[in-house]
Amino acid sequence: MKKIGLTTTVPIEVLLAAGYTPVDLNNLFITSEDYSEYIDTAEKDGFPKSLCAWIKGIYGACIQNNIKQIVGVMEGDCSNTKALVEVMSLKGIKVYPFSFPHSHKIKDIKKEMDKFMKMFDVNLEQVESVRQKLNKIRNLGIQVDKLTYKEDKVNGFENHLYQVSFSDFNGDVDKFETNLKSTIEDIRKRDPLKKNIRLGYIGVPPMTADLYDFVEKFGAKIVYNEVQREFAFPRAEKALNIYEQYYDYTYPYDINFRLDEIIEQIQERNLDAIIHYTQAFCYRAVEDIIIKQKLDIPVLNIEGDKQNLLDARTKLRLEAFLDMIRDLKRRNS
Ligand code: SF4
Repeated sequence: MKKIGLTTTVPIEVLLAAGYTPVDLNNLFITSEDYSEYIDTAEKDGFPKSLCAWIKGIYGACIQNNIKQIVGVMEGDCSNTKALVEVMSLKGIKVYPFSFPHSHKIKDIKKEMDKFMKMFDVNLEQVESVRQKLNKIRNLGIQVDKLTYKEDKVNGFENHLYQVSFSDFNGDVDKFETNLKSTIEDIRKRDPLKKNIRLGYIGVPPMTADLYDFVEKFGAKIVYNEVQREFAFPRAEKALNIYEQYYDYTYPYDINFRLDEIIEQIQERNLDAIIHYTQAFCYRAVEDIIIKQKLDIPVLNIEGDKQNLLDARTKLRLEAFLDMIRDLKRRNS
């Protein structure tokens, strides 16, 4: 099957129906032992120092892995993607555009989706058949999530990892399903982790994945990974068709739409506090102002850049934040 790179989550159902193997360039970048070489590749090719590391990383991952075609999300993802795909085109990479319309109207999403299907020469029936298959596997993602926040048997990092993998099903849908089923069986046999503080993580997935282990050392656990959970489409089965499914996907739309789901999950998961991760040089950092105003539980904003490990200052801030949450809990109990 032909490989096609993704700059973010897109309607993978269309690509699979067309016989492609989607590869999420973000996952390829961040799971690589040489992840910083991908950033170096981008900087050597002229990408500025003052640009988000994810953008440089996905560019480097695409070039170094010789991926010759990608889907570039022009609207609804990242303000830098437009320039990124222009450079990729210059390098001879074929770019298929897709947009999550800012209007967030179902008729506009349908128009975009139909255009995307036409581009790959597949029809709605083929796409719906793939969607039904994927939704059964997405149910396994929901199980992993419940094993995290209800049964306390999955740690925050595992929850993050399993859910981000749903963006491309690790490049092999059937193998992904088999592995996930056996992982879930193993997880069920575990004892609960028993951490006192229940945290939510919101924002783009972190460069610094050691965050999960770090908070666990201080008696806390991340039981909600907002954007990663969206990548796994937890409400897909409620959607009557592919159009509704991608209408209900919160990440590419405005902050208030995202916040409605975040507030619901704060209650459902009984969260004590939120960690809002932002990436250096990302426009989404500005949304922290709205987030802090609209959420009625404590929010700590941390920022990552190129390093894949937390820096000393962020560790100190996290430790102080968790101390404060612990005191608050004691006082309220
Ligand atoms: S972190 Fe922000 S700037 Fe970086 S790729 Fe994501 S949306 Fe774009």
